[in-house]
Amino acid sequence: MTRKVLVLEDETNIRSFVVINLKRAGYETIEAGTGEEALEQLQRNPDTNVALLDVMLPDMDGFEVCRRIRATNNRIGIIMLTARSQEMDKVTGLMTGADDYVTKPFSPAELTARIDALCRRAGSEPVVDTGEISQPPFLLNTRNRTLEKNGARVKLTQVEYSIVKLFMDNAGKAMSREEILDAVWGKDYFGEVKIVDVNIRRLRIKIEDDPQNPTFITTVWGYGYKWGA
Ligand code: CA
Repeated sequence: MTRKVLVLEDETNIRSFVVINLKRAGYETIEAGTGEEALEQLQRNPDTNVALLDVMLPDMDGFEVCRRIRATNNRIGIIMLTARSQEMDKVTGLMTGADDYVTKPFSPAELTARIDALCRRAGSEPVVDTGEISQPPFLLNTRNRTLEKNGARVKLTQVEYSIVKLFMDNAGKAMSREEILDAVWGKDYFGEVKIVDVNIRRLRIKIEDDPQNPTFITTVWGYGYKWGA
């Protein structure tokens, strides 16, 4: 199965460089130079697996594009392309629903490794399983990869779903950040462990009654996190 990647980047030389390398790695690519074009391309290509979003664009910033994609699409993998000077943007990007970020300048090998990891994650869940995990007030449906809290659907990204599934499978067990990173992002992921904290911060906003005083995802100081008090 060919994997389709959207490349949103207004600088044509960078975009061509990325596209050439992705094609060489066996990906099908679609391209956009503005946020509007990217959103149109995704409407025409609903089977796109991963979107690479540059932050600095002529019409809107990459975070806004990310937000608009996530408003209707939780399945697609999103990687932000950030400049080294945009350290804070990594966090902003992840908070708006991105799964990962790559800092410019990046090597083609690094980029394809990140895309591969994201594709594997999205498609790696076994097709046949028990169907539901019930841990009131939560109900996780592993067939549809959806979460309900008190009967109401909580919209999760694929990464957030994988984290909740991991927690539910290990309820009450303290899990280190590295353990979570390995399980959700894969052992060959070479990003920073901080990505775990940012995703959990976002997840808390979605599932906790009071994200400032979490009771479902609790912090184990100096170590990691635990599902339950
Ligand atoms: Ca740019």
